[in-house]
Amino acid sequence: MPFAQLGLSTPLVQALAESDYKAPTPIQEQAIPAVLAGKDVIATAQTGTGKTAAFVLPLLERFSQAETLRAKRIRALILVPTRELAIQVEASVAEYAKHLPLTSLAVYGGVDTQPQKERLIEGVDILVATPGRLLDLAHQRALHFDELKALVLDEADRMVDMGFVDDIHKIMVRLPGNRQNLLFSATMSHEVRALAHGFSASKKSETA
Ligand code: AMP
Repeated sequence: MPFAQLGLSTPLVQALAESDYKAPTPIQEQAIPAVLAGKDVIATAQTGTGKTAAFVLPLLERFSQAETLRAKRIRALILVPTRELAIQVEASVAEYAKHLPLTSLAVYGGVDTQPQKERLIEGVDILVATPGRLLDLAHQRALHFDELKALVLDEADRMVDMGFVDDIHKIMVRLPGNRQNLLFSATMSHEVRALAHGFSASKKSETA
């Protein structure tokens, strides 16, 4: 099935052709229509299955259609366990968004916060972050989530294993409650399911 039939429009289809993606992978066929429809998605997916594109492509499609949004406010927050993954996921976002007026940034620990803060002041649409650095920047009031539409937890099982559950909960309560929630994990442990439940808990706490 071609990517266009999944509901992706020309700027994305063209970028995929330029990256030599010929057809969607199974996780992309399943997830892209659901994410485009605005649904919350919880998926089991190993690295190498094309899971990054499965959530990035439909989010970019949705944001490129939403003309009423103010530009360069964080619309999607993608939380990942490691600096390496943050860099890799942001590179994919930039590759897929190259024909769209959407910007992305990766923030992670172990480096100076100042250049990250300067980029955030310029404005970013898609932010890829490790949880600790995200909270650091939030405490420094460098982040504004008023236009946030989607939260992605990527490699959720690794974030659980690395002890990020508390940080993730602290982040969730800072986000608008009516957002779309996506969770990708190689395994579905009790702890990962509990994180997914936290999605709706933070929703309830916002709307109560
Ligand atoms: P991921 O599972 O997201 O880490 O992706 C694994 C690799 O597959 C990455 O190098 C992607 O660029 C590549 N990839 C993802 N989707 C496709 C596709 N539909 N066709 C060809 N390559 C792809």
